[in-house]
Amino acid sequence: MESVDVVVIGAGFAGLTAARELGQAGLTVLTLEARDRIGGRTWTDHRLGHDLEMGANWIHWVQPHVWAEATRYGREITRSPSADEAYWRGSDGTPRKGTLAEFMELIGDGQQRIIDDVRSAIPRGVEPTVGEIQDLDRLSIQDRIDELELAPEAQAANESVWVGHVNAPLAQTGLSSALRWVAATGGHWQLMHEASATYRVVDGMRGFTDAIARDVRGEIRLNTVVSAVTQHGSSAIIETVAGDLVRARRVVSTLPANAIAGITFEPELPAVWRHLNAETVASQGTKVWLRAAGHLPRFFAYASQSDPISVLKAEFYCSDEAGDYTILVGFGPDHTLLDLDDLAAVQAAVDACRPGITITEVTAHDWMTDPLSLNTWMTHRPGQLTRDLAKLREPAGNVHFATTDNANLWGGFIDGAIESGLREARRIIDALR
Ligand SMILES: Cc1cc2nc3c(=O)[nH]c(=O)nc-3n(C[C@H](O)[C@H](O)[C@H](O)COP(=O)(O)OP(=O)(O)OC[C@H]3O[C@@H](n4cnc5c(N)ncnc54)[C@H](O)[C@@H]3O)c2cc1C
Repeated sequence: MESVDVVVIGAGFAGLTAARELGQAGLTVLTLEARDRIGGRTWTDHRLGHDLEMGANWIHWVQPHVWAEATRYGREITRSPSADEAYWRGSDGTPRKGTLAEFMELIGDGQQRIIDDVRSAIPRGVEPTVGEIQDLDRLSIQDRIDELELAPEAQAANESVWVGHVNAPLAQTGLSSALRWVAATGGHWQLMHEASATYRVVDGMRGFTDAIARDVRGEIRLNTVVSAVTQHGSSAIIETVAGDLVRARRVVSTLPANAIAGITFEPELPAVWRHLNAETVASQGTKVWLRAAGHLPRFFAYASQSDPISVLKAEFYCSDEAGDYTILVGFGPDHTLLDLDDLAAVQAAVDACRPGITITEVTAHDWMTDPLSLNTWMTHRPGQLTRDLAKLREPAGNVHFATTDNANLWGGFIDGAIESGLREARRIIDALR
């Protein structure tokens, strides 16, 4: 039987980082990845005539783990287009057009009041469960917004902005997500907005993950679905769907909480993992790329949180033999609300955000039905953060858990995945050396 010091399951950012660190510390490492590519929930694919990020798109220098990796691998950033026009849902329920400054004026008071207590809720962004968050974690973002009694137009706009951030209905999403990410940006909601949706990586996420993978010393074996992990004393046997067996002294699972039941663990997973997997985290939305006829003015648009597309913006300007076109990116709270095969329904969803555009093509990857993720970017339901986070980081015998789902600082983001990979690699290196 093949035998290594460590098997890493999954070659997303968490797995690649962990595998690199373990190998560079002199341990033998084998990375097993179910997909035919590395990157996990980052995936640069050529569609609509352009390289598009089907998963993660934006990073920022206030995200220390990903920024250190960008520096290490010489990754440059480029800005997504800033908007000249803004659209939002007016008080009569129809889309209204204005300037960026008018939109910021509309949401400013609400955005600040949603997170006004952030400094006492989570005084240190790196300790997201310490502070008044222990009590506030029972609240959803919707609970907090409802308390503010905003005017209907401001309420709809503020809700849509937060759907864009958390990718889920706000009544199901913990206030903790708003508070922890704003805590990570020193209490400034404007910086949190910039950090989460402004700067793309030149050459895409594929270029980024390829660069890390070149530094991974052991093999990254693709098309290899792990089906079982069985612990025996000081080692574990990892079994693949194809029936191959590998023995390892330690195992790093990088599976998201929603997807971890895809592997049978013996002894069974700790209760915290089983419970969270059954409950699922809050995020359940969609990200779609759309081809619109012509070169449109640079805009962003917000509908309401119950629309299939709550947030829409112009991202790329292209031309081909059919003429000029604009590639838009849209986000919605519920992946089941939009049928991508029904162009008329997609057009209607766009019209509800930003009228006057003709959509000719649409594409997306449904991460919620993809059995290897069953999640988009992780946001917690009310109560999950303070109940589970510390326990999710605890190894279970020889099995370690590295995933953005159990990161401290930017849980849900690439930054959190890297944080978790570094953390678990260090623990294993300390234990095995
Ligand atoms: C649509 C979308 C937009 C996003 N936007 C952003 C953004 O702009 N900025 C940002 O920072 N983050 C964003 N994110 C989140 C970011 O992509 C994730 O937080 C991060 O990539 C997670 O990395 P990970 O390594 O923890 O998990 P993953 O990337 O999910 O890695 C887990 C790996 O395990 C593999 N795997 C699963 N089961 C098995 C098995 N049984 N056997 C072998 N392998 C298995 C999977 O194929 C996968 O490669 C976005 C995510 C999505 C889906």
